[in-house]
Amino acid sequence: MSDATGEVTIYGAGMSGLVAAINLARRGFHVTVHEREPGYGGSRQFNPSTHVTPIDPVRTSEYIGIDISSVFHPVVECPAYFHETRLLVPVASVYAVERGSRPSSLDTLLYGECQGLDIDFEFGSSLTKADLDNLPPRTIIACGLNSPAYDLLGIPHLKWEGWMSRGELAVGNMAWLWWDECVNEYGYFSAVNGYYYDQLFSFGPVGWEDLKKYRSFMAHHEGMEHQEWNQIAGVAPVASPENPKLFWRDAVLCGTISGAMDPLLGFGISGALVTGKVAALAITDRDAAEAEFKRFNRHFKASFYAKKLVWSRFIRPNVSAISAAINLFGVQRAERLGNFFAAGHLHVKGAIPGFGPFNCS
Ligand SMILES: Cc1cc2nc3c(=O)[nH]c(=O)nc-3n(C[C@H](O)[C@H](O)[C@H](O)COP(=O)(O)OP(=O)(O)OC[C@H]3O[C@@H](n4cnc5c(N)ncnc54)[C@H](O)[C@@H]3O)c2cc1C
Repeated sequence: MSDATGEVTIYGAGMSGLVAAINLARRGFHVTVHEREPGYGGSRQFNPSTHVTPIDPVRTSEYIGIDISSVFHPVVECPAYFHETRLLVPVASVYAVERGSRPSSLDTLLYGECQGLDIDFEFGSSLTKADLDNLPPRTIIACGLNSPAYDLLGIPHLKWEGWMSRGELAVGNMAWLWWDECVNEYGYFSAVNGYYYDQLFSFGPVGWEDLKKYRSFMAHHEGMEHQEWNQIAGVAPVASPENPKLFWRDAVLCGTISGAMDPLLGFGISGALVTGKVAALAITDRDAAEAEFKRFNRHFKASFYAKKLVWSRFIRPNVSAISAAINLFGVQRAERLGNFFAAGHLHVKGAIPGFGPFNCS
């Protein structure tokens, strides 16, 4: 594709916005990135944090044209707990990555790539209603999971609430997941680069008693306690089977606000990376970008309905039954089955947009 000239405006200096900016600046565009925070590193409400995701960092790097593999670290162990039942999740292609502005984060790597390119940053500059009425041509909106942008754009979303704890911790690259009836989503912990992020969340309120139960589980099963917990809230574009959208009027969407997320567990990292690249393509070739976007998000609808009609109605509300079923089948047998899936023998793809054994590439 030939080089181009012209102005591009991007709202959001998170991971997808930066991937789009780098790709466009390399092609000859002058890019201005507006970010509501005072610096790079994503939302201060959510970051610094650590995330875990199934991903193929090498193929993802090739696709987005930026080598991000050095900041994705293999997860060594990830148990999933259903009450007292502990099941080891296959971690062969599961990686931990740090968000925020610490030197070891993904954001720092991407921001470093921007240096020397024709990219201007306007920090402390938010997308507003007035901006939306006068968007310049070649605008990309990459505002992540912060509620005001969804309200402004009228994007269907669900609101989640919860508790989070984060900080430095001398543990390896690890994670866990915890399911209990006290929340309708889950508790999860991840750690990488000597930093941890722990969150209990639900689509709806999560009380102090629920947190107490989670903390008791952590102390009992993982021998871990954190001094400080804070309340947290956000949104997710998983309110409609039609959520994934590359365009809003003439503007291009990318990252989580475009709906490039797996609706089942909320993995958003992989989708944000690949749709940052797709958004850059959309600036010069809307049809080609639309085809790529559809390819990456083609399993969203099926996964959305599987969660809404089966998982959330019949399975998730009864963790005791899940636990009993796993024990009846046998924990080790269930783990072997999980490893068989993860090895790709069944060629079953999930709804995580991007590259990896369970991803929709
Ligand atoms: C607490 C938490 C934990 C998560 N854990 C995981 C996980 O373990 N694994 C996983 O795969 N995914 C996880 N996700 C999802 C994942 O973080 C997101 O899907 C991903 O970061 C989205 O990237 P993005 O580029 O769309 O947005 P972000 O990287 O969030 O960037 C959005 C940027 O837009 C800025 N912004 C917002 N509103 C405006 C505005 N009005 N004007 C200008 N700028 C604005 C923000 O400040 C931010 O810098 C988690 C999300 C959260 C919130």
